[in-house]
Amino acid sequence: MGTTIFSVMSALAAEVGAVNLGQGFPDFECDPLLVNQVTLAMQEGHNQYPPMPGAAPLREAVSQKIKALYDRHYHANSEITVTAGATQAILTILLAVVHPGDEVIVLEPCYDSYVPNIAMAGGIVVRVPLTPGTFRPDFNKIESAITPKTRAILINSPHNPSGMVWRHEDMLKLQEILSATQVLLISDEVYEHMVYEPLKHHSASSYPGLAERAFVVSSFGKTFHVTGWKVGTVAAPSALTTEFRKVHQFNVFTVNTPIQHALARYLADPGPYLELPNFYQRKRDLFRDGLTQTKFRLLPGEGTYFQCVDISELSVPEKNLGESEFCKWLAKEIGVAAIPMSAFYGDGFDQNVIRFCFAKQDKTLNTAIERLAKL
Ligand code: PMP
Ligand code: GLN
Repeated sequence: MGTTIFSVMSALAAEVGAVNLGQGFPDFECDPLLVNQVTLAMQEGHNQYPPMPGAAPLREAVSQKIKALYDRHYHANSEITVTAGATQAILTILLAVVHPGDEVIVLEPCYDSYVPNIAMAGGIVVRVPLTPGTFRPDFNKIESAITPKTRAILINSPHNPSGMVWRHEDMLKLQEILSATQVLLISDEVYEHMVYEPLKHHSASSYPGLAERAFVVSSFGKTFHVTGWKVGTVAAPSALTTEFRKVHQFNVFTVNTPIQHALARYLADPGPYLELPNFYQRKRDLFRDGLTQTKFRLLPGEGTYFQCVDISELSVPEKNLGESEFCKWLAKEIGVAAIPMSAFYGDGFDQNVIRFCFAKQDKTLNTAIERLAKL
């Protein structure tokens, strides 16, 4: 396994002084209230190990949030576990449920940890492409990929890297396909609060036939502008949670205590996450409007803080270098870092598409747009 593309591009951006629209993280601060809550929790003495599944107030707050938003009750004690971000959550799920030789379906392009994680669990990766261009799920292909050896399917909406958002009908269709099987669902919903009008997020937890077989993965890093805090959650029916925790206890055991207490209190106000779509929709529009003056062809931007573009129409010959080499050239010569879409495919499939992250201050986005306008 090589080094993840996110580290590679962030290091290159720092080395050459490029505006970093590659790795997905905000370049602005989180709410100071949240930082104060962490300080307060430390001063109150929340500094030793919490219970293995997570601090009780945070599990309770998450349970209430899911009930309010997606209308399913997860029991805080037996169905919600706090994790060290979504990355640890997904690896732990796979280690808990995949037996050597089991097949696990991923929909490509997909987040870069999925495939190595399945391999680490001894599973066999079954790659099913999302429809090129729209990145919508192809249910005929998904259905025909299911075999008696299929243990789980991993889905991700809103989708990194394409920004595509699954519709209600998509969730119903998946529910119908899985109903006749024992296949488990791993639903990566880390961008649940970044869905733009007129769409909305459809959590697997809202669909009884999915929720009964699902691990629903969330991450506070994206929602509260704190990607470096690495705290997330897994919501799953108690039988699945029991299996999950068997691995979790010997994997990370617990997640840092004061941040859990701070998040629990901060969640009492739904304002910050309910206002997030407006906040990011404005940035998305600013960035998309800026790019309309360039020869980049914009792909849809329905959700997440990513915007993908097709580079085929650019006037520079470097557009033919292939996505990966083009991104290196773009960082070095134009001063903007991006991520090649090919990094999200097991076979490096190249379709002349690159991904920008717009979770940036307006001035950062404007600088990037100015530089990109040269192409
Ligand atoms: N899944 C997807 C689709 C992601 O984009 C990310 C963000 N890097 C993760 C999982 C991991 O999230 P975390 O930082 O909470 O580990
Ligand atoms: N989720 C972020 C992205 O896709 C960053 C992940 C990482 O750095 N591993 O860019």
